[in-house]
Amino acid sequence: MTPPIFNDLKNKSFQNRFDTAEIRIEKLKNLQTWIKNHETEICQSLKTDFNKPEFETQVSEILIVQSELKYFIQNLKLWMKDQSVSTPLTLIGHKSLIRFENKGVVLIISPWNYPFQLAINPLIAAIAAIAAGNTVVIKPSELTPATSNLIFELCKAIFENDVAVELGDKDKTTELLNYKFDHVFFTGSTAVGRIIATKCAEKLNPYTLELGGKSPLIIDETADLDDAVKKIHWAKYLNRGQTCVAPDYILIQKNIYSEFLNKYKNHSEAFKNDNFSHIITERHELRLTEMTGSALKSTELIAVKDLTHPLMQDEIFGPVSPVLSFDHIDDAVKITKKHPDPLAFYIFSKSDSNIDDFLRKIPSGGAAINAISVHLGNHHLPFGGRGSSGQGRYHGHFGFLEFSHQRAVIRQYFFSQITQLIFPPYTPFKNKILKILKLINS
Ligand code: NAD
Repeated sequence: MTPPIFNDLKNKSFQNRFDTAEIRIEKLKNLQTWIKNHETEICQSLKTDFNKPEFETQVSEILIVQSELKYFIQNLKLWMKDQSVSTPLTLIGHKSLIRFENKGVVLIISPWNYPFQLAINPLIAAIAAIAAGNTVVIKPSELTPATSNLIFELCKAIFENDVAVELGDKDKTTELLNYKFDHVFFTGSTAVGRIIATKCAEKLNPYTLELGGKSPLIIDETADLDDAVKKIHWAKYLNRGQTCVAPDYILIQKNIYSEFLNKYKNHSEAFKNDNFSHIITERHELRLTEMTGSALKSTELIAVKDLTHPLMQDEIFGPVSPVLSFDHIDDAVKITKKHPDPLAFYIFSKSDSNIDDFLRKIPSGGAAINAISVHLGNHHLPFGGRGSSGQGRYHGHFGFLEFSHQRAVIRQYFFSQITQLIFPPYTPFKNKILKILKLINS
């Protein structure tokens, strides 16, 4: 990006501060129409990039974005309104409110695994970030060139003055991070997240990190095993397991361990369908086969004895899962401590007390019970990690807030002489008033 383009975006973000809700909604509607008219091209680009089946693109890229857009269009006017808040007695005579203002120029860096959704959903919040009135630079992944080019065309067609798309690899990201952005929104691996955070710290750029990690899935002896088998198979089949919230490793209570493995094997053998996404590159495929020690199947569970196994070291991001057994809940909790603060955590159980125990003892970004991944499909829930799986959150109103500056504004309307009580000289009378105020506040 050249400095003049950055300066233009900076100036435009200032002009956007005067936009009405109607203008911003119009921008979101343009995006809605563009997506509707280009569904075939979106599906085709994902097919070209890594053979993603059209049905999966429709559900996990297009539908998710459309649902987010509709929700923003319906609610943006309300969210943009100043919010009155109460004022303490000590500030009698004042009125207080929160204004939701755009931050300025936002940088969105997105990964390859859901290349359309993970660039466009933050963009909606950022248009809402363009809805919060920001201007945006998007750096899509270099590993999905067809989809990244389509995002380039999209933004050129409908957001020419509000959004710049910068194509390139990690050198492009490094170059972009030399600019003083008003917010950086990064989705990607924990290792690169650390690099982004360090670069942002140098410039004091605020940032959101949506990262990955090893998300555990625990099945206790009360669980419906057939249900668990079908859902795990689906989660590892979707996008070929290359999903940030896919279950990474599975812990099963010992007395149902063999039964579960048999059921899973039978289910995957009966499921004859080779219409699935490719592993994104040969390099990624090689990494996975080195971890598993064999060629990859559609989806596979691999029984491992302990935490020294290669599959129990880093995030897997593929169609395989290591499986370990446990006796007691606390044994399972102990295993999860090796990879604290995962992005997601899944429990299959019918026992309320076990569920509660697991939720208290295993912190994570999000969690689902007797379900997998679906928590990210509800825009009433915040989506984000904690600790090494990320910082900040988005989806729905949470995204609008993440890309807005919440400005505190207070105004004095009457009793202006009262505030003068804090001015010098500090007379005995003022000390008496202070004592009363302290009594009131104790
Ligand atoms: P990645 O971290 O390798 O790349 C993400 C982006 O960062 C890309 O645009 C890439 O060009 C850029 N990048 C890569 N290396 C860089 C470097 N050294 N310096 C600066 N920029 C660099 O991630 P990926 O392989 O594209 O995606 C997979 C990872 O993303 C997984 O760890 C997955 O869990 C995570 N992820 C998280 C979420 C979430 O919402 N939390 C969603 C999808 C993927």
